[in-house]
Amino acid sequence: MKKVRFLTTEDGERTRKVKPFRSYAHGKGWNLQNKPLLGAEAKRVENSGQTKEQSRREVLWALEPAQADSWAWKRLLKLRPLAIQFCKSVVGNGLSSSFWFDAWTPLGQLIKHLGPRGPRALRIREDAVVADAINGTVWSLPHPRSHQEVELHTYLTTFTLPLSLDIDDGYEWLASDSSVPIFSSFSTWEALRPKMEVKDWHDVVWFKGTLPKHAFTMWTANYDKLPTRARLAGWGMQISPLCAFCSNPMETRDHLFLSCAYSLDVWSQVFARCNPPTSPFTSWAELLSWIRQPRSKSLSLLRKLVTQTMVFQLWKQRNNLIHNHISVSAAAVFILVDRELRNIIFSRREKKSFATLMAKWLR
Ligand SMILES: [Zn+2]
Repeated sequence: MKKVRFLTTEDGERTRKVKPFRSYAHGKGWNLQNKPLLGAEAKRVENSGQTKEQSRREVLWALEPAQADSWAWKRLLKLRPLAIQFCKSVVGNGLSSSFWFDAWTPLGQLIKHLGPRGPRALRIREDAVVADAINGTVWSLPHPRSHQEVELHTYLTTFTLPLSLDIDDGYEWLASDSSVPIFSSFSTWEALRPKMEVKDWHDVVWFKGTLPKHAFTMWTANYDKLPTRARLAGWGMQISPLCAFCSNPMETRDHLFLSCAYSLDVWSQVFARCNPPTSPFTSWAELLSWIRQPRSKSLSLLRKLVTQTMVFQLWKQRNNLIHNHISVSAAAVFILVDRELRNIIFSRREKKSFATLMAKWLR
């Protein structure tokens, strides 16, 4: 239980206990069936000794953080502007939905829609619940005087009055295309996260069964961000920009992985097991299209795996040569590629897509 400061209008500060936010979570985030923190009615102070003015209602959306509140609680309160767009109030008897702060109409929070002058204009107190705005079978609102008020009046005509007394107000969490109106961290994150266009190469870099270290090197290579000598020299570093393997042309990504004689030696042994391209690669795009070319999904998967293993191993050998002066023959690099690939396939042999890969690789 957590003590929060409760402000009354006249008798200063008192403290009382409310359940901490966490206890509403039940491992699913906000349990919207537990309304006390959301609805206004449940915040009504159950103290018969207080006058109506003293018994102010509190709503989560309008709660002011107190200095003594925990850091976590304050952080949660700061997330309210994000949360309110998903948390809708479904009016039943109107006894717990806050008129001004809950989003019970498609217009969102009415305090935002009509502005801070709304309570005075509509002559409805800030701590009112929806039922407070109803008098018998009609809404007790003054004649609308602004476009926003007309919008509200129009929506209110969709209600059948009086409201059903035996149906409690409820809360729904509507995020993204979630089919059930309860909190889901996945659909909420999907709705909130910044989205970028899906890259046409993502299936070659990120796929089920890849090794993270391979995928990462491939991802970096794909963006041409590996610190090749040509790039380092381009940044002004006093080093030779020539290829570490053949000491001939500039060490660019495409030379290093696609056209260097040393790499081609390794590739030739790879091609023997998963069909060579019709002509040597002249660009990175040609490598990607060779990977995707086969109609057979398993051959395409094999090419993805072998390409990532090649890029990883060639880059590793290049670093070994430059930094540790360790030179390894192309044949030895192929043995490393072969061993690594067999290990990957063997450890995933239970997966359907990997079932035939070993036979393909060893043919
Ligand atoms: Zn070279």
